[in-house]
Amino acid sequence: MKITIHRGANQIGGCITEIQSAAGDKILIDFGHNLPKGDQKAEDKFENRDTLIQVLQGVSDVYYTHYHGDHIAFEYEIYKADVRQHIGGMALKMLRTLKQHLWKADGLKDAAAKSLEALAHFETYKAARTETIGDISITPYFVSHSAVDAYMFLIECDGVTILHTGDFRDHGYLGGGLMKNLKCNIVPKNVDVLISEGTMLARKDEEVMTEWELLDIAEDIMDEYKNVFVLCSSTDADRIATMYQATRRCSHNFRWLVTDTYQGKQIQNIRNSPIRFYSSIVYRDFGFDHDKVLSDMLKDGFTMLVRDSASFEKYLEEIVPQIDLNQTALIYSQFSGYIDPGHPAFNQSTYNFVRKYPWHLEYLHTSGHAPQQTLREVCEFVNPSMAIIPIHREAQSDLSVLGLSPKLQERIVTKSTELTKDGHWNDTPVTIEIKD
Ligand SMILES: [Zn+2]
Repeated sequence: MKITIHRGANQIGGCITEIQSAAGDKILIDFGHNLPKGDQKAEDKFENRDTLIQVLQGVSDVYYTHYHGDHIAFEYEIYKADVRQHIGGMALKMLRTLKQHLWKADGLKDAAAKSLEALAHFETYKAARTETIGDISITPYFVSHSAVDAYMFLIECDGVTILHTGDFRDHGYLGGGLMKNLKCNIVPKNVDVLISEGTMLARKDEEVMTEWELLDIAEDIMDEYKNVFVLCSSTDADRIATMYQATRRCSHNFRWLVTDTYQGKQIQNIRNSPIRFYSSIVYRDFGFDHDKVLSDMLKDGFTMLVRDSASFEKYLEEIVPQIDLNQTALIYSQFSGYIDPGHPAFNQSTYNFVRKYPWHLEYLHTSGHAPQQTLREVCEFVNPSMAIIPIHREAQSDLSVLGLSPKLQERIVTKSTELTKDGHWNDTPVTIEIKD
């Protein structure tokens, strides 16, 4: 069998991993776009249809770990190439809501309509249910990430067992499931090859607080400020749950969590979860019954989720003149690089949005990715017998910073190679091809 890392071995985002059986069955895990650089959409070689079709040659199925754009982005072209696509059920609903929202935006209508056409043909998988594609079997296991309904995949092919982690962390509300899943479902299968995300390998000093710790701080801010705007991802269920719970717990607890219509629709998707933290979220839509919502906001204070968009500029121009900015905070709850002029990911528009008014500005965020300590624990616990392949990592980062045990250190694979599984039934080598 053969594992090909088409992209992602030396960059964060744009991940594409291929698994091919000896008999020629072929699946892909994720097919994402390069991450944007600041406010500029990144170039991507797979926007060239011929290049994309080359990678899809012989591929029957693409399995997506989650809905972030650096993991799923070419769904229309892949659908047109007659390749089946699979994602979690709630993830599919959230993607549809996003595309329906983009469909209304100037210049994005065509792309959004194509995407919706492709999504209508997606198949959904369920946690812990194995699907079989020829000689390849794939079982999704739930992981905690800044996207809800995200999965790692256990793949078995030609007697070789592979764990592809997708993006994951253990410091979100559902992070406790990580080691449990590894212990009960994955380690007993004797993993041979671990393909692990390594986003945090180059971010040793980044503080990683738990979502629980973040909730306590959000509550403190809401105790202090009557009016709180929150700039966070509209699809990060943990963060929205945090802001909702902090709103309920703070001393101004008569106030509401207020959203726009798009954020409200995403919360409705999140609320369909059996997990109480998500299903209990209650909100009011500023775009609906607007006069009543505004008068309650001015009376009781509020927590309002905001986005860097023209519609929110209008909302703010209406609300801000009517409130006391000394009693108002903006919680910036995203990656700090977007508002750091020295960072390659700097986004001028987000920076301008955050600085638009002299409100109190608070940075409050924690990563969607596992810190180095967790990566180390996962590698040691999974203890793959053949190889560890780091993906979704910065080019200059190095898995050896984890200080793994010598036997695992030797198994780190960053270049194309052939390995033979000890005692393998036919000693056929496993080919690992690493591109880019
Ligand atoms: Zn992600």
